[in-house]
Amino acid sequence: MAIITDLSGKTAVITGSNSGIGLGIAWELARAGADVILNSFTDSAEDHAIAAGIAAETGVAARYICADMSRGDACRALIARAGACDILVNNAGIQHVAAIDAFPADKWDAIIAINLSAAFHTTAAALPRMRAAGWGRVINIASAHGLTASPYKSAYVAAKHGLVGLTRVVALETAREPVTANAICPGYVMTPLVEAQIPDTMKEYAMDREQVIRDVMLARQPSKEFATVKQMGGTAAFLCSDAAAQITGTTINVDGGWTAL
Ligand code: NAD
Repeated sequence: MAIITDLSGKTAVITGSNSGIGLGIAWELARAGADVILNSFTDSAEDHAIAAGIAAETGVAARYICADMSRGDACRALIARAGACDILVNNAGIQHVAAIDAFPADKWDAIIAINLSAAFHTTAAALPRMRAAGWGRVINIASAHGLTASPYKSAYVAAKHGLVGLTRVVALETAREPVTANAICPGYVMTPLVEAQIPDTMKEYAMDREQVIRDVMLARQPSKEFATVKQMGGTAAFLCSDAAAQITGTTINVDGGWTAL
């Protein structure tokens, strides 16, 4: 797909971007010309090498900053260390699959912190920078599970519904400014997060791997195909374009028809 917007001169901070959807978004925003700041809670040579690889191939400035999105102070420190933040992509997320009466309380707390509260903290820290720069984009990576529910995903569904609500509030609070806030709601995208939930889903449904993919995951996705991280990146780049300047407070569902059911 052709690049639809020129983001040179902009800086994008993408949380949880050393793998999966966040990394796919970092690549597409860099290809559109934005400087990118990658993040996760680890601080390995490999993490920094991912940023260096993006810089080498696209010519933008790319940095990796370690910050734990389960902690509000670390979320705010990430934005402070970034220096600039014209585009904020709240993407960091984790998942846990268990029946609600067996759902570990510490998993609930971690999912709410990383998948929801982190976006509150980063947005609060980033909005003053966007206002000072006179332009901004907040893009929250929610989920089809921000609009619908599935069994065994209580914390995740609650957090993603919360993230869609937060997106709408940010959009209303910035409606008269050159700042937009939207949520991308992916259906299933084959990433490490999805791969990791296959064993527990096999257990909950007493199914084998192929059945879980066909009868649980893609059963809800009428296209019968996983969406790709590149498609998520292209959608994020579109939301940064001038064409999307009046799109705010909404969800863009990239889910093969899931939420049309
Ligand atoms: P992933 O596991 O590849 O990526 C998650 C990212 O979050 C990783 O970079 C990970 O290191 C990071 N992360 C986890 N805990 C963190 C913490 N405490 N601090 C900082 N970073 C942390 O999974 P993914 O599928 O790419 O998920 C990315 C986002 O997309 C998540 O918010 C997820 O809920 C959402 N999503 C994914 C799918 C899917 O099918 N893959 C569907 C809908 C929504």
